[in-house]
Amino acid sequence: MTIDDDPEVLRAIERDLRGRYSDRYRVMRANSGDAALTTLRELKARNNPVALLLADQRMPRMDGVDFLSKAMDIHPLAKRALLTAYADTSAAIEAINEARVHYYLMKPWDPPEEKLFPTLDDLLSDWSAGFRPPYEGIRVLGTRWSSRSYDLRDFLARNQVPYQWIDIELAQTDPEVRRLIESLGPEADTLPLILFPDGARLPEPSFSVVADKLGLRTHAQTNFYDLAIVGGGPAGLAAAVYGASEGLRTVMIEREAPGGQAGLSSRIENYLGFPAGLSGADLARRAVAQARRFGVEILSPQEVKSVRVDGPYRYLTLSDGVEISCNALLLAMGVQWRTLDVPGIERLQGAGVYYGGGTSEALACKDETVYIVGGANSAGQAAMHFSKYAKRVVMLVRDSSLASTMSHYLIEQIEKTPNIEVMNNTNVVEVHGESRLSDITIARGAEGAREKLTATSLFIFIGAQPRTEWLAGLIERDERGFVLSGPDLLRDGKKPKSWTLDRDPGLLETNVPGIFVVGDVRHGSVKRVASGVGEGAVVVQFMHQYLAKVQ
Ligand SMILES: Cc1cc2nc3c(=O)[nH]c(=O)nc-3n(C[C@H](O)[C@H](O)[C@H](O)COP(=O)(O)OP(=O)(O)OC[C@H]3O[C@@H](n4cnc5c(N)ncnc54)[C@H](O)[C@@H]3O)c2cc1C
Repeated sequence: MTIDDDPEVLRAIERDLRGRYSDRYRVMRANSGDAALTTLRELKARNNPVALLLADQRMPRMDGVDFLSKAMDIHPLAKRALLTAYADTSAAIEAINEARVHYYLMKPWDPPEEKLFPTLDDLLSDWSAGFRPPYEGIRVLGTRWSSRSYDLRDFLARNQVPYQWIDIELAQTDPEVRRLIESLGPEADTLPLILFPDGARLPEPSFSVVADKLGLRTHAQTNFYDLAIVGGGPAGLAAAVYGASEGLRTVMIEREAPGGQAGLSSRIENYLGFPAGLSGADLARRAVAQARRFGVEILSPQEVKSVRVDGPYRYLTLSDGVEISCNALLLAMGVQWRTLDVPGIERLQGAGVYYGGGTSEALACKDETVYIVGGANSAGQAAMHFSKYAKRVVMLVRDSSLASTMSHYLIEQIEKTPNIEVMNNTNVVEVHGESRLSDITIARGAEGAREKLTATSLFIFIGAQPRTEWLAGLIERDERGFVLSGPDLLRDGKKPKSWTLDRDPGLLETNVPGIFVVGDVRHGSVKRVASGVGEGAVVVQFMHQYLAKVQ
């Protein structure tokens, strides 16, 4: 960047710089120190490195030396050269110390091949030798102790969007973070803030705004499909792959991110064909790629709010207000984490208290003690995962042992991991902290003796429940909200009242013909990835049989 208040000189030097360097560098100009500083701040916010600043010494309001010393605060690695007249030589020499100017050049610089380029070549080659390319993707600025920041990072991670996380608390120790925050000015007050490489910034964005900016598809392309699937967990994804590969025009609607609960799993070890295990994120990524390859339309994030039936058509209303219809409908909404109901918990959610999180938080817990509530496989997997990063992992388990709730292989792994401690017969009864978790109170043993422990992270894995309220009045569910299907609908051998056909409801079919259910949300399901995938694959056959009769 070259800076000069004299328009003619500015044009001339810019022309020479472009002629020599524009194949490797972007050449920019500014007609005052203030204008140049504004551009430098913008470049900092976009993570664009600056190689060289060439400033005229004699400028009104802010002279070259003053400008270069201010610019040094923003882009300390840029080479700084001062353009001086003969009369200013002594000022220039002083500036070498004061503004740590790397070089001063005399005006006029003609011919540039002799008087300008050799020096600048030298400075630029020095700069390139020490240059480390900056991160070029999306950056998220926020604080670890804010639930909004946590949710946003979780959303990006689960949608497989790579990003760089910048914790503003690091500003005290990391000068680069401080410089970025200063360059952003008041914009850095509204967090979390997403910085896109094209310069766009989204303060405190909603998921749908982020999804639009990222080009994730959230709105339906058409209003009619052969098959609509609600939920993008393993069961929904499997049905989408089989349905679309067998020629059904398929849409899959997912509220958060494809992958479902499995996407939260740090390591699935019992899924057939992956002897070394695979992470839920990996499984989700592969399945989504496979579904897209077969032409499945995936709408995410997008939520189904209600369902209605009209003749052979099933209608869904989405959260954007659009109604789509289909011939066959699949319910694959899985289950959602059950929340821990103790004083203080709601306020601290996302600020030290997390449900089912893990994979993205683990690094942040380096060298800390992490508390995990729960004794089932999900809690065990999380404990194993955290044990690689945290100093100590403490599992708080309500029962007297893990044996009845956790797979044997995981119990063995936990026993062999020295930094995992299991506290049986233990309940969390209160959590404390102003803006973030600071302590937890636990009750231990039969007497329930209370103890207050210092804690910065509490991860809760205490089971899950279906969220099927929006099906009320149409779809039959059990008392816990799980969807009934097939033989489970028959009472004393009688079909449900709402059932209109001569035949009985088929396997995986609900009380409404053509609406099917698979995976964890189904009453009586085996809550495993493989069983959800199996049901998702099988149900497509039943749909073909149904469609053959209605079409
Ligand atoms: C941490 C963890 C570890 C696990 N580890 C293992 C393991 O090692 N092995 C194993 O076999 N199983 C494991 N499981 C269980 C396994 O992940 C589940 O059984 C499986 O994910 C169920 O699949 P699903 O498709 O039925 O439902 P889910 O995975 O729950 O997916 C349902 C999806 O539907 C979406 N949804 C819900 N309602 C709506 C709506 N109205 N509109 C749009 N979308 C909606 C949800 O956002 C969700 O993404 C684990 C689970 C967890 C949480």
